[in-house]
Amino acid sequence: MSIRHSGIGMTSQRTRMRMVERLRQQGIRDEIVLSVMGEVPRHLFVDEALAHRAYEDISLPIGFGQTISNPHTVARMTELARAGGDLNKVLEIGTGCGYQCAVMARVAKEVHSVERLLQLTAKARKHLRDARVINVRLRHGDGHAGVPTAAPFDVILMTAATTHVPKALLEQLKVGGRMIFPMTKGTTQHLSVIERTAQGYTEKKMDVVNFVPLLPGTG
Ligand code: SAH
Repeated sequence: MSIRHSGIGMTSQRTRMRMVERLRQQGIRDEIVLSVMGEVPRHLFVDEALAHRAYEDISLPIGFGQTISNPHTVARMTELARAGGDLNKVLEIGTGCGYQCAVMARVAKEVHSVERLLQLTAKARKHLRDARVINVRLRHGDGHAGVPTAAPFDVILMTAATTHVPKALLEQLKVGGRMIFPMTKGTTQHLSVIERTAQGYTEKKMDVVNFVPLLPGTG
């Protein structure tokens, strides 16, 4: 096993457990989410030169002008996605480096993830293989369209900020399912949770966040 995998010093299990303690202090309550955050090797999802900073409470560059969210935001979105229960099928828009995908793959049976940049899809594929995550399907494409062939989803998680919710995504939610995404209004962004009910859709505004924008088409 290489040093990178065994996790020495700043990438060790102990460092990861310190991150979990911090997440607890920051208000993450779901014990399943906390234990998953303690298991997924976040340092395998960033460039080697940044691995020693992987467990700090910061977002990090993943190339191509994109970023991996800070651990608290990933944990919070996963907590909102779970809403206290196990998940069957999840769709993520914005695979990036694959870290959020790896976390979701531990709380859901099946994760589908779409990324508009081919280079990032390739990077994520390698990271997920290194971390031995198998229950994910990655696709290069425009997330606005979702993945109709795999719908309906229990949860749709979007990790890029938008001013409008793509209609196709709402249609791919199961009744009782939730879509969690950063919504931009003016100069601020909030996490938003849309729930599909038998009667329609309800929306709740949550924490202030800071995501890169959802872009049109494929890069
Ligand atoms: N969840 C990621 C965070 C990635 S940042 C992680 O854990 O690393 C947001 C990602 O959304 C970027 O990789 C960006 O390329 C992607 N993105 C932006 N617009 C998109 C679109 N229309 N369809 C699919 N992916 C998109």
